Amino acid sequence: MKDTASNAEATLPIAVIGGGPAGLMAATVLAEAGKCVRLFDAMPSPGCKFLVAGRGGLNLTHSEPIPDFISRYGAWSPLFERFIQKFSPDDLRTFCNRLGIETSIGSSRRVFPSKVSAGTFLDLWMRHLTDLNVVFCPRHRWLCFTQAGAVHFSSLGEYHKDVAQISCAAVLLALGGASWPKTGSDGHWAERLKEHGIQVNAFKPANCGFTVAWSSRFVERHQGSPLKNIAINFAAKRVMGELLITAYGLEGGGIYTLGPLLREAIERDARACLSIDLKPDLSVDTIIRRLSEPRAGHTLSSILRSRLHLSSSAAGLLRERLSAETLNDHSRLASAIKSLDVELLAPRPLDEAISSAGGIDMSEIDETLMLKKLPGVFVAGEMLGWEAPTGGYLLQGAFTTGYVAAKGILERVDGFSTGTLEPRPLIVAPQQYWDAL
Ligand SMILES: Cc1cc2nc3c(=O)[nH]c(=O)nc-3n(C[C@H](O)[C@H](O)[C@H](O)COP(=O)(O)OP(=O)(O)OC[C@H]3O[C@@H](n4cnc5c(N)ncnc54)[C@H](O)[C@@H]3O)c2cc1C
Repeated sequence: MKDTASNAEATLPIAVIGGGPAGLMAATVLAEAGKCVRLFDAMPSPGCKFLVAGRGGLNLTHSEPIPDFISRYGAWSPLFERFIQKFSPDDLRTFCNRLGIETSIGSSRRVFPSKVSAGTFLDLWMRHLTDLNVVFCPRHRWLCFTQAGAVHFSSLGEYHKDVAQISCAAVLLALGGASWPKTGSDGHWAERLKEHGIQVNAFKPANCGFTVAWSSRFVERHQGSPLKNIAINFAAKRVMGELLITAYGLEGGGIYTLGPLLREAIERDARACLSIDLKPDLSVDTIIRRLSEPRAGHTLSSILRSRLHLSSSAAGLLRERLSAETLNDHSRLASAIKSLDVELLAPRPLDEAISSAGGIDMSEIDETLMLKKLPGVFVAGEMLGWEAPTGGYLLQGAFTTGYVAAKGILERVDGFSTGTLEPRPLIVAPQQYWDAL
């Protein structure tokens, strides 16, 4: 380890702060290019949110055609079009293979690691980084920059009184967004960057559930039930998908995709009215015809189930929203099945959301993901102000921006070694970190 320390002094190290997928990808690219990399994270171990994502199956990316893929980044699609050219979903799968991890495509064209858990994925990745001499410093919290891009760390626990300073060639901040703060991604960095005049937009919950004022009877009967094979219409957008009925309202991929529009409407009007098509494959006329066949003593529930193949949760939702009069009128019921209004009142809290919107305003970065106001400081991952729905677009966005930022750092650092750039910045770290080298 002492040899590594002397190398670090000879060639200035690059600091990667934040050990989520964006930071780990950047550390990998930099170390594979032969750079001396120090990886810091405030948590005792890296990749805590990555591990949480693994509980739901670790949807790494998506295999749909690239133009469709890029369109998922909404307003940020033009930027991601350029980024994805540099590190695409296929590149991510190749990278996984290099770590010894096979990937497979699920029925919805989502890409998952096959046969390995998120924990094993992370172990293999950290082993690769160790082989590349990346030094991982857990429990090191970046606090702020001082003049000329200096960086301060405070370490947690036993080290908290000791700090030391090093010079480094460049810094990558990959500190994540602000959802699920217990994974370390607490968004506290925002205030620190604002002190440097950097515009950081307020964090908002993304890919989250929304509150609906259900009756207690409906919740008792249908909480935890899915609404499958439905279409959700809002503000001239139609999304095919699935929703989950919860005690507080609705959750699921269907509304995640509409999230930004729903948030905006709720901010403006204090509510957003979804229109749910419970039978997207049937026309109103077909539904009326099926409902109008002789009842032969069957109840409405059994007719909805047998003739329209509606689930009990879909039938329950109709009862929850419609008057007895409408339920007994074939034509009005058919229209409601095709377009059932459900009013969303608020997004769920940020702590519960899968991701966050907001973060560093995209006007603050250049094409290499360097902060224009802090030359030598690069940013990547969810701390940047883009958002995307679930489906692998979040992790791919983190991996890709980590890759792009690392390439930007290499360009800058290699420029520096030929004498064209000044080294930046200075890092303050716990003394024990240096003792251990
Ligand atoms: C329940 C859940 C399920 C998910 N499932 C999926 C999925 O299947 N597919 C998908 O694409 N996405 C999924 N995501 C989202 C995905 O995990 C995140 O978008 C991704 O982890 C963001 O990566 P990142 O590297 O930008 O940040 P993070 O993974 O959040 O990592 C940031 C790191 O920075 C560290 N840090 C923060 N502040 C400091 C500081 N001041 N000093 C030092 N270190 C600091 C944190 O400890 C953390 O380790 C899921 C998220 C959740 C919560």
